[in-house]
Amino acid sequence: MRSGLYNKAPVVGAFHLKMSVNFNTIEFLTSAATLEQCPKDEGAEVAFCGRSNAGKSSAINALTRQKSLARTSKTPGRTQLINFFALDEHRRLVDLPGFGYAKVPMSVKDHWQRHLDEYMRERTCLKGMVLLMDIRHPMKAFDEMMIEWSIASKLPLHILLTKADKLKRGGQQNSLLGVRKGLPSEVDVQLFSATKKNGIDLLERTLDQWLTGESE
Ligand code: GDP
Repeated sequence: MRSGLYNKAPVVGAFHLKMSVNFNTIEFLTSAATLEQCPKDEGAEVAFCGRSNAGKSSAINALTRQKSLARTSKTPGRTQLINFFALDEHRRLVDLPGFGYAKVPMSVKDHWQRHLDEYMRERTCLKGMVLLMDIRHPMKAFDEMMIEWSIASKLPLHILLTKADKLKRGGQQNSLLGVRKGLPSEVDVQLFSATKKNGIDLLERTLDQWLTGESE
């Protein structure tokens, strides 16, 4: 289990270890409603999920140093699709549809669950899942479901407690400890703030490991 609030990338002398994935050169690739419509199952990809308003677009934009990349996923017609972004020829970030779970009609929920479940179980190039939860409202039904699915699919899971800047340091720590306590030790949990640009280094480190196939 990781410790510390916003763990920084390892420093060697005066230099940060170079990340082998460049998160700044990212482009929208395609959208998919079903597994068949997804890009070819090769290379490596990492998926981001979270209830709507969890801060997913802001986090993806902060990670990739883009202003409105992830807004693409919010354009009409794309909100219920799996949206793919290419980092390079072999690596992708994937924005999974998220919504105010309770408000969604049963038929949409069923359709979405079926395809998402299929995507998570069958996508060989999927190397890990990033689940975003607003630090003030963690562990809702949607989050529990994604955690269960990830564990059942043996998919590495990294949780971001977003909008950490909304709480004072003590509140951040309490929330971090509370969320960690209920989870298996292989699940990573970290604080994140897109507004303050805090926690990006640690997220990059995890994604880099997953996308390059290197373990710590
Ligand atoms: P999404 O629906 O999950 O993509 O969420 P958005 O990224 O659109 O963010 C939802 C709202 O939370 C917006 O009003 C953002 O400005 C706000 N927000 C996102 N990240 C942060 C953060 O790190 N700190 C604060 N204070 N607000 C944030």
